[in-house]
Amino acid sequence: MNLPGAEGTPRDANPSLRMLIFGKPCAGKGTLASKLTDKYDIYSVSTGDLLRKHILERTDIGKEAEEIVARGGLLPDELVLDLVAQELDTLRNKNWILDGFPRTQRQGRLLDNYLGKRNLPVSLVVNVDIRDDVILDWIADRWVHIPSGRVYSTSYKPPKVPGFDDVTGEPLTKRPDDTPEIFSRRLDHYYAQTSPLLYYYASRSPHATRLLNLDGDVNLLWPTLDSVVRESFLTVRERPPTRARLPGQMQVRSSL
Ligand code: AMP
Repeated sequence: MNLPGAEGTPRDANPSLRMLIFGKPCAGKGTLASKLTDKYDIYSVSTGDLLRKHILERTDIGKEAEEIVARGGLLPDELVLDLVAQELDTLRNKNWILDGFPRTQRQGRLLDNYLGKRNLPVSLVVNVDIRDDVILDWIADRWVHIPSGRVYSTSYKPPKVPGFDDVTGEPLTKRPDDTPEIFSRRLDHYYAQTSPLLYYYASRSPHATRLLNLDGDVNLLWPTLDSVVRESFLTVRERPPTRARLPGQMQVRSSL
């Protein structure tokens, strides 16, 4: 997909990273986000992870979300905005990635309103553009550790011990929505509601927001994103090896 306004627009000389990541369901957005949070001092907020954690902990939100998530539906905009705002409120001067939100144009406007009041505009919008058949192979291979959000792939990123999480040793599970049927429903949502958001961001704030389309060779997705973040966002620092992120911190999201 060609994104208007992606190149050559004037931007802040030294913006913080406030990044949105878009792409079809299961396109590896979370994997890319976790590579960034593993390597750099960047925090990640994933609405899918937050909701799965609520479901696991049987909170009121979790009980409301369980059936909707399992069938690939969308939670009410305000409810998800509240979850996101609670996390972003703790990350005001930090570099962050938001994965899974906004998912509709209305959510985009709600987020703009929230960020606008704090003078913290989105500085990078990434679109991960992967073919459907590649995604269906990934879904078949995907296993998750739900409490942490860590994701494994039997082909690309196998756990050290098959079937178990590398950090906690707990069993891995399949996500209930990781099926071809649910994928196809979520893809419909994506085309109807999420993909128009790319144009919304392209037209909305071309001066403050850089747009990056990641497509083509899947092996180049990470190197391309890595170099854009490293070269364009100078406030982002590499994590010292001894202070690697602790496992299980939900706001510093771990994988896929
Ligand atoms: P994800 O892990 O981002 O694929 O999200 C998993 C599921 O959580 C989605 O299929 C939705 O049911 C729900 N969800 C996540 N983010 C949102 C959102 N921004 N708005 C509504 N529902 C969401």
